[in-house]
Amino acid sequence: MRRARRAAAMAAPEHRRTALERVDKFISEIYFTDCNLRGRLFGDRCPLASLSCFQTPRRIPYDEAVGQEFRPAKVGDSFGPTWETCWFKVELSIPPAWVGREVHFIWESDGEGMVWRDAQPVQGLTKEGEKTSYILTSSLKETEPHSLTLYVELACNGLFGAGKGSMIAPPDPDRRFTLSKAELVVFNRDVYELLVDLEILLDMAKLLGEENQRSFQAMYAANQMVNVCDVKDPSTFSAARDLAAAIFSQRNGESQHTIHAVGHCHIDSAWLWPYEETVRKCARSWVTVVRLMEGNPELTFACSQAQQFEWVRSWYPGLYAQIQDFVAKGQFIPVGGTWVEMDGNLPSGESMVRQFLQGQRFFQEQFGRICSEFWLPDTFGYSAQLPQLMRGCGIRRFLTQKLSWNLVNTFPHHTFFWEGIDGSRVLTHFPPGDSYGMHGRVEEMLKTVNNRDKGRVNHSAFLFGFGDGGGGPTQKMLDRMKRMSDTDGLPKVEISTPDRLFSVLEKESSQLCTWVGELFLELHNGTYTTQAQIKKGNRECERILHDVEVLSTLALARGSAFQYPASQLQRLWRLLLLNQFHDVLPGSCIQLVVEDALQYYAEIRRAGARLQEEAVRSLCGELLQPKAGSAEGTLVLNTLPWERTEVISRTGPAGTQTLALVTVPSMGYAIVKEPLLPPQPVSVRKQEDGSIAMENGVIAVCLDAMGRLTSLRLAGSERESIPDGCCANQFALFDDVPLYWDAWDVMDYHLETRKPVTTLLKPLEITLAGGLRGSASFSLQVGESSTLTQEIILDATCPYLRFLTQVEWKEAHKFLKVEFPVQVRSTNTTYEIQFGHLQRPTHWNTSWDWARFEVWAHKWLDLSEHGFGVALLNDCKYGASAHRNVLSLSLLRAPKSPDATADMAHHQFTYAVMPHWGSFQDAGVIQCAYNLNFPLHAVPARSAQCPAWSAFSVSSPAVVLETVKRAEDRPEAVVVRLYEAHGSTVVAWLQTSLPVQEAILCDLLERPAPRGRLPLEQQGVRLSFSPFRVLSILLVLRQ
Ligand SMILES: [Zn+2]
Repeated sequence: MRRARRAAAMAAPEHRRTALERVDKFISEIYFTDCNLRGRLFGDRCPLASLSCFQTPRRIPYDEAVGQEFRPAKVGDSFGPTWETCWFKVELSIPPAWVGREVHFIWESDGEGMVWRDAQPVQGLTKEGEKTSYILTSSLKETEPHSLTLYVELACNGLFGAGKGSMIAPPDPDRRFTLSKAELVVFNRDVYELLVDLEILLDMAKLLGEENQRSFQAMYAANQMVNVCDVKDPSTFSAARDLAAAIFSQRNGESQHTIHAVGHCHIDSAWLWPYEETVRKCARSWVTVVRLMEGNPELTFACSQAQQFEWVRSWYPGLYAQIQDFVAKGQFIPVGGTWVEMDGNLPSGESMVRQFLQGQRFFQEQFGRICSEFWLPDTFGYSAQLPQLMRGCGIRRFLTQKLSWNLVNTFPHHTFFWEGIDGSRVLTHFPPGDSYGMHGRVEEMLKTVNNRDKGRVNHSAFLFGFGDGGGGPTQKMLDRMKRMSDTDGLPKVEISTPDRLFSVLEKESSQLCTWVGELFLELHNGTYTTQAQIKKGNRECERILHDVEVLSTLALARGSAFQYPASQLQRLWRLLLLNQFHDVLPGSCIQLVVEDALQYYAEIRRAGARLQEEAVRSLCGELLQPKAGSAEGTLVLNTLPWERTEVISRTGPAGTQTLALVTVPSMGYAIVKEPLLPPQPVSVRKQEDGSIAMENGVIAVCLDAMGRLTSLRLAGSERESIPDGCCANQFALFDDVPLYWDAWDVMDYHLETRKPVTTLLKPLEITLAGGLRGSASFSLQVGESSTLTQEIILDATCPYLRFLTQVEWKEAHKFLKVEFPVQVRSTNTTYEIQFGHLQRPTHWNTSWDWARFEVWAHKWLDLSEHGFGVALLNDCKYGASAHRNVLSLSLLRAPKSPDATADMAHHQFTYAVMPHWGSFQDAGVIQCAYNLNFPLHAVPARSAQCPAWSAFSVSSPAVVLETVKRAEDRPEAVVVRLYEAHGSTVVAWLQTSLPVQEAILCDLLERPAPRGRLPLEQQGVRLSFSPFRVLSILLVLRQ
């Protein structure tokens, strides 16, 4: 009191700068810690009684670890190399003199640690996540044991892996991780509270600005607190705290913006560390959340990704049980509804449905309810089909923020309705702080108030907690926000839930704007192309699982003895869905992750082939060849919902491969003995100038010695697709050096470095002379040391020309594309997306147009004018562009971070060009792209008499029957999923030869729609579609 009185008596005009810096130094971690308040945070210290360790290259369970032989260790030792694990046995003995004090076990290391006590994980310790204390007791009692044994599991990687030099550099394999502190300390809680008070007041004083009187009130209060506070005399602290409380308790008016603070911890399911480490990251982060919840019953925590819950469920059952308790209390809140936070661009429509189906079913099973908001804060764009898929999966709300990373245009909203290609709308919110990893600071609160839709809405989300590599919220973040809950000058801060936020936003939504179409991220456009083998694995495995489901379902419906491989399919789907995580499928991960991902694809291919064989054996067992080598015919299966006439390759009696033209009905099969004769054979002619002409009665092409198309026409027509003097199928190489995010970004300026590839290694030569198939091949040198060999193939009756391409890719920071200049004029190109398509401009009028200089598409893109167009199809590519009249397909990149070996390999891929009359819809471009991606299956068979068989067909070419599977919960029912693909309003009949007794409309989670019964009529089931509508139907089979 003596000091306080003196200070009051001597109050003098305050100089703003010296006052602010004075407070700053009083709480500084760097300056004057010998005499300031911060220097008093910790009291007495005591070394550990003993420390020993055991190191292993594997991530092993606790029980296995503690049985090992531990050797003495000490503070200052370092451990490694990268990715190894050190287990420490920590014996500690708290000095009896510390009775009544708060005692912490302090552990500082640059590796990520987990404290185990009594065989249970109890606390994650990560220096980078500001977690270095495990609280042993908040007030030591004489009666409690002072000695105990802990174990610390130390991962030899940091929160962000182990990048050598920079965060996204490839990991340094030889990194060492140092234990810099391990001891017991007395923690002075009263000093800590005062530090938090002063920090907030100082931030208010600095950040509210000199025109705001609250800035000065906070400054004078903080200065006065320094005056009254004698750091050596804790009895002076309460007077200082009262000064702070007086400011914090001055309330806001009713109109103030409300911030809904929700704890969060973004954990990338794999990124700069492998999947296996993520399992431990989840445990470290979530156990810390559980500890915080025990001491802070108001804390809420939004947690996404069913896969991560599943990891913790199987690896840490004790922790999982605690999490389930906090879920039941409404504090630990599952969100998102998906299996992982997937990439928002590249997964197929059906994959996205499965993300929700696997996710929502997991949440329902484990926690008794599905998620009501889609949660995808960190992905590189958002498909315009997502709103419909969300709505079909019980979700009307969406939270993300990544568009704040746009390089060119500022997205105009934080709260708005997002409308997809079919017209479905979801209420969408971007936390206006433009981050999912806030720390509860004044600055972030002020940024959040600056919601671009303020005035329309008065509530915003605020996600706090260390993220990306895990970590999550801290006590200090919570303590900051407690002080800011309702303080005049700052927004109101409530610890809230996503549901509370969206509920008030729904009430306030009458004035919100609507954004129609995709949410395109103007950055990270390289992720459509990087790690081509992952992209190829994704497309191929989507096809494999489609085919296995179709064939298994047909086998099930035809013969009740067949065991539908439901659990195996679930396992394979989950592997595929996991690889769609937003740093894996985009290719922005380290080499270790790529290796894991490719292994998962190999597993899907292997198991998928086996399952397909079993399904085919059950479906057509009596038709298959009885013993090897005696095949007389070929069984050809078609998993697509339209009849196909195509050239296939089949194994003849002597094991030789021969070609045959076959017709197979929709989703069914046919036995082929005598192949069809083509209406017109393929002719291949070498001309005098070395060029090669091919024609099949549908299209006619002319190729120069470098494999470039100099002419592409529809047979019998003079309408040329290639402009005069231009060549299509022209390869071009670009310099590809982004500003920072190597694997992620291709910048606009790469377009200025275009070099056509013109070094011929082997000129175009005929490889198949025609008949059922004509082909010619050539080789080019690409860049300094890469080579490209291409076989250009034209099949009888086929409306497109295929380019089977092999590349030995050995470049650095180069981007390979193939270009098709076409004689078509249109201001828009059409690109396939999930269950539909959309248009993007071919011009660069505005910044919104040119910022899309590199875009993504699925199986096709098309440039059409009235009556004529050219489509590009592909079997595993996603990057594309169309500027003016040039269509480009992005083939390969060569980034060096975070995987120095990215794409350095042999690549094989196929694309195709298809000129057409009329619109792409009427010309069947969509069906052709499916055909290219879903080859017919040919199996040696007897030459039995057997009529062709079709399970399903659809009466309208506008409607695609995409999925046929067994229902998840009803073994006697089949689910079929169809979508309107032309962008038209249409009625279609679904016909089936399966024994269906009941048809019921259902949602994407397979829940029957109210009044969803569909009459079974002579023509099948009548279905009405609006543009791009996705419909799912439960077909109950007769037993
Ligand atoms: Zn992420």
